[in-house]
Amino acid sequence: MSPKIVYDKKNCEGFFVCSAAAPDHFDEDQDEQKVDLTDSKEKAENLFEKEISEEELEEAIEAAEGCPADVIKVLDDDGEVVAGPKELPIES
Ligand code: SF4
Repeated sequence: MSPKIVYDKKNCEGFFVCSAAAPDHFDEDQDEQKVDLTDSKEKAENLFEKEISEEELEEAIEAAEGCPADVIKVLDDDGEVVAGPKELPIES
């Protein structure tokens, strides 16, 4: 299994910490004041997921740990949550 980023777009508050930490994965949408998780699949409404490589894991963790809204989760290749909230989407 590959490492994975999971992103809850609904609760993104547009701080753009993630896009600074991992610009290849998070695209800023200034109009919407949210980011898009690039090349991801929408697994549920506003919940996006993408597989990443081992080499990309570190910057993904940095993005998740820096997100003030706690809407990014990173799983390692064992499916363990290594950054971000255990559960997504968060309750709002
Ligand atoms: S850091 Fe979090 S809240 Fe800010 S743009 Fe990224 S996902 Fe959204």
